[in-house]
Amino acid sequence: MLTTRPRGTSDILPGEVEKWQYVEECFRRLCREYGYAEIRTPIFEHTELFNRGVGDATDIVEKEMYTFRDRSDRSLSLRPEGTAAAARAYLESNLNAGPQPVKLFYTGPMFRYDRPQAGRYRQFHQVGVEVFGSPRPAVDAEVIAMAMDFCGRLGLKLELHLNSVGCPDCRPVLREKLTAYFRAHQNDLCADCLRRLASNPLRALDCKVPRCRELAKNAPTSLDCLCGSCAAHFQDVQKYLKALGIDYVVDRYLVRGLDYYTKTAFEMMAPGIGAQSSVGGGGRYDNLVETIGGPPTPGIGYAIGLERLLLAMQEQGSELPGRDRPDVFLASVDDTLESEALQLLQTLRQKGLAADKDYLGRSLKAQMKYAGKTGAPAVVILGKEELARGMIILKDMTTGAQKEVPAAELAEEIGKLRRKGSTS
Ligand code: AMP
Repeated sequence: MLTTRPRGTSDILPGEVEKWQYVEECFRRLCREYGYAEIRTPIFEHTELFNRGVGDATDIVEKEMYTFRDRSDRSLSLRPEGTAAAARAYLESNLNAGPQPVKLFYTGPMFRYDRPQAGRYRQFHQVGVEVFGSPRPAVDAEVIAMAMDFCGRLGLKLELHLNSVGCPDCRPVLREKLTAYFRAHQNDLCADCLRRLASNPLRALDCKVPRCRELAKNAPTSLDCLCGSCAAHFQDVQKYLKALGIDYVVDRYLVRGLDYYTKTAFEMMAPGIGAQSSVGGGGRYDNLVETIGGPPTPGIGYAIGLERLLLAMQEQGSELPGRDRPDVFLASVDDTLESEALQLLQTLRQKGLAADKDYLGRSLKAQMKYAGKTGAPAVVILGKEELARGMIILKDMTTGAQKEVPAAELAEEIGKLRRKGSTS
């Protein structure tokens, strides 16, 4: 136990973490360009927020939440997703009283107690955005375009699936049709779907049990029941996506796992990464803010899972950075030069170079070997005699060439080797 991490969690180690940083950095840049500001909410919230804001009848709330009581006997839950908390913060901080829409982004770990498998973990990481305060279909198009742009920048080709799940006006029609359809086939439904038939027949469309899936194939869908306003909204979203040159398929069976979705729902799929092929998804949730106690406020957002994003990138051969390496490694001829070595290291770092040295008292030969392993394109060798003359030995690790450089010019010379190293 002491040396084993909990099931469904990962350590992201050096060598791997650079890939995460690269993807996160790309997302931050994207958000800046699209006008989204970062929000950081707590890792845990009152359980009630998720019961209401995600929905009691969802798998997430019913089966997958990490819920615990704290020392004051409050029921808290680790966040299983980011939208409910963003909506809570939007209300709690009165962002709804300022200029609208409010465009937010977040990144961070989420927690769901599910059976771990490739692409499915108990602690996983999402990046996501939420837009509060605009009902207009152009926002739907922007949000979808942004998610696709992000994946495109990372070299990913994903399939965009698009649907409209309707609104409270059209949903009763769908519920009725679905309930009638599934009742007529209730002997073939799994126990979960049968139980949820009365509370949420929509969920049967999303069930993973093979015989429910078969049934779902012929079930009536939301697209058969859209009210006039939802139908027009869906048409507009498609018109704007076409104007932006974004390919999509209308997937009438796409229902998102969460209860609060209205109108647009979308999902980005990477078929090559196995059973868990959804890299990200989102949609409109015009009733969420009201559900958690705020004024009627339209909203839309998406979340992308970073583990699956990275899996898809590896699968599709996208370029990813390797392990970070120092710009320069500092070796000393003997350890009587420790003070000078530490001083020089600080000077180089203050000039913006990533610099490191030996801390195990290795011989010069061993230091050079270790320097090679770090991948540094340059090694500085401190020798007493050279130092006395104001000179330092600089070795180009790519060519093996070595020369003496005046101490004052050292940083600049290392900079040249760094640039050469980064293009080789
Ligand atoms: P959702 O919040 O369920 O709409 O999921 C959005 C995205 O988060 C999915 O497309 C996945 O990329 C990712 N995701 C959801 N659940 C998990 C999980 N248990 N493990 C890893 N990634 C997940």
